Amino acid sequence: MRLFNALSRSKEEFSPLSSPVRMYSCGPTVYHYAHLGNLRSYVFADSLRRALMFFGFAVTHVINITDVGHLTDDADAGEDKMEKGARRENKSVWDIARYYEQAFLQDVNSLNILSPHSWTRATEYITEQIEMIKRIEENGFTYQTSDGIYFDTTKLSEYGELIEGFNPEQLQAGKRVSVGEKRAKTDFALWKFSSPEQKRQMEWDSPWGVGFPGWHIECTAMGCAQFGEVFDIHTGGVDHIPVHHTNEIAQARACSGKNHARFWMHNEFLVDKGGKMSKSKGDFLRLQSIIDEGFHPLDYRYFCLLTHYRKPLSFSFEALSAARSARERLTHKVISLKESSLPGSDMPAERLVFQQRFSQAIADDLNFPEAIGVVFEVLSSTLSDAHKLSLLIEWDGVLGLRLAQAERETAPEHVVSLAKKRDSLRAQKDFSQADALRDEILSHGWVVSDSPDGFVLQRKDD
Ligand code: AMP
Ligand code: ZN
Repeated sequence: MRLFNALSRSKEEFSPLSSPVRMYSCGPTVYHYAHLGNLRSYVFADSLRRALMFFGFAVTHVINITDVGHLTDDADAGEDKMEKGARRENKSVWDIARYYEQAFLQDVNSLNILSPHSWTRATEYITEQIEMIKRIEENGFTYQTSDGIYFDTTKLSEYGELIEGFNPEQLQAGKRVSVGEKRAKTDFALWKFSSPEQKRQMEWDSPWGVGFPGWHIECTAMGCAQFGEVFDIHTGGVDHIPVHHTNEIAQARACSGKNHARFWMHNEFLVDKGGKMSKSKGDFLRLQSIIDEGFHPLDYRYFCLLTHYRKPLSFSFEALSAARSARERLTHKVISLKESSLPGSDMPAERLVFQQRFSQAIADDLNFPEAIGVVFEVLSSTLSDAHKLSLLIEWDGVLGLRLAQAERETAPEHVVSLAKKRDSLRAQKDFSQADALRDEILSHGWVVSDSPDGFVLQRKDD
């Protein structure tokens, strides 16, 4: 299996240090709902985990919950996003953290993202973070300003190894760019002191004074606490390459001399008309927004799989609708194959060829768009129904589209009659009335879609 490693900026053959594969994904900052862009990041991490499992690797997966320390400005200015969220909603910062964490877990579940083996909350690893900062300090990589303890990036010759075209010369003494009390632009906070003017809700004692950890230290500390000094894979969005992951590596190197992850993998952005979707813009789309528009959460998962994770993904409702139609076609096909297929005895060469092509696509840095192309070729192939079905069920382990569980469910009479009425409105080309009925059916907890054999009703939350 070849995976693109941001460290070498190339695809490398993957093999783990030992079994199981140890994989850490940067988790959400829980001051607001996750938007569709954030969720792309976890569909990607889940697809990677499922692909590893498909090729026989056992995987231990950790996702963290950032519930303290992520400032509104990546350069350590601004305020803590969590405290800002609490003020916005007039709630305690702890309530905010737990509320949005819960909402995130629900999204993860709806998207059929396998639950990680641990969810690590930054606020539950304060001791580990302080211990790590102490080691960084002992090794001579820190200095103090009036507002915190900072990492001196000029002391680390490997600083910036993850950034393409990074010029370490700019860090040399004498060429430093001062930013406030920071000695160099790239220096970053390890520990921030609580401000004497504003009482913080989250703060802890430390050898340097009362305060809270910088954002980057949590991931290095929790990753290493879970997995040891070096583990296999670290994931996140591309925005993490120049700052968060670069600084994570700096901390690990200052502690142990080693980069703590062997493969650094990043998903590109989900973009919409306004560019990168982001929480700070306020008007983002969350999973619930598309559910309210009548989409199934797995429509979004499928939509994500149609574009390679290292390419930007453009969101539009038209594109999502096209993904919905294709996913529904696939699901209906599986249902009818389940109803029709008799067990096949032979193992035709054609099946093996499809199997190889699917595996090769996934093994080539998770080429899901190509793998899905193979899925549809299988459906229109001359393979027997039994072979088609068994291939789709096997591959669903990687796709995560719940094809194995798909079955025809009987909707209650009143819902069926609404669907029939919608059918006749569509036949009369009265699409606005038909759409209103689609919404009404949805309000009863059912999603109606159309197949060549007539309408299909599926439970909204299956
Ligand atoms: P956050 O909750 O801001 O800490 O981000 C959670 C994850 O979502 C991180 O891995 C980010 O890199 C990623 N992310 C943020 N915005 C987007 C976006 N528009 N598209 C894809 N991934 C994103
Ligand atoms: Zn992180």
